[in-house]
This record gives sequence, structure tokens and C-alpha cells, in this order.
Amino acid sequence: MIVRNACPACGSTHFKKNGHTHNGKQNHQCKTCPRQFVQCCEQYLISDDKRGLIERLLVERISLRGICRAVGVTLKWLLGFLVQCFEALPDHLHVQPVSCMRDVLIQRLEVEADELASFVQKKANKQWVWIAMDAKTRQIIAFHVGDRRHKSAEQLWAKIPQAYRQ
Ligand SMILES: [Zn+2]
Repeated sequence: MIVRNACPACGSTHFKKNGHTHNGKQNHQCKTCPRQFVQCCEQYLISDDKRGLIERLLVERISLRGICRAVGVTLKWLLGFLVQCFEALPDHLHVQPVSCMRDVLIQRLEVEADELASFVQKKANKQWVWIAMDAKTRQIIAFHVGDRRHKSAEQLWAKIPQAYRQ
């Protein structure tokens, strides 16, 4: 969560605290226009332009934490965004192996359910984002959202392109 740093109506950065809403969130009032607003969740604040930039950075195989630092998003947001991107793609990502080593790195990242739930509509307490990367190029070659058990690893494995599975 980050605090909205400008009025959503007029864009003014001059606002003051103005009591609390019925559900306890800090309310703010713009000093330029009458608009009142509360803290806003981060995914709402990421503009389409920024999302486009992040997509291009992902294609450039920049590390996830590097992207977070460069564009100022949290790792949790980025993982949620990744889920959105990957769920829009077919299971096999049409990845062409670019390195000849073809070693695969598996990363398992824990994500809080409430961060991810809105993206994948899963109800379990914990979701894990499984990522298979080409060990040399860091290109993401497969992606799976599931629990932390062995079955999820198998499901990730099934999505890894044939060339890497040999
Ligand atoms: Zn305003």
C-alpha cells in the first residue's frame, strides 16, 4: 500500500487529513478542489504507461527486483502483474531457448493470498508463484500459480518447453 500523492480529481498535491471514513481509513481533502479521497491500493495507481514499460522490462529479462527498483513498484505488485500477463498467454509460452546450456532455475515465491486473490481468484491461504527461468539468460520460460507442494512443481514442469525438459 502506498499513499496517493495527488488529488485524483484535479491532480493537486496540496491536501490535508480530513477525519476517517466509516471503515477507519484516513480520509483526505484536496485544498484546491472539494474532492475527498482515501489511501488507495497500489495496483490502482500504476498507470497504463507504466504497465507498458514494465512489460517491456520483463521482456528484456531484467530481474524482478531490478524492475521493482527501477520503476518503484513492490515485488508483490509485480508478481500479481506477472500473473495477469501470464494468464493471458497460452500455457506454452512459445519460448525459443536462446542459451545452449538450458539449465533451468526454479524459483518459488510466497505471495500473500489477499495480494493475489483478486488476480487469480484462489481461496487458499497461501499462494506460491512458481517461476522457471533459463539459468543463463534469466528469461522466464514457464510460470505456475499454486500451493507449495510437489504437485505444483509437477504442474510447472509440465509447462516448461520441451527443449528444457530433456
Ligand atoms: Zn483536487
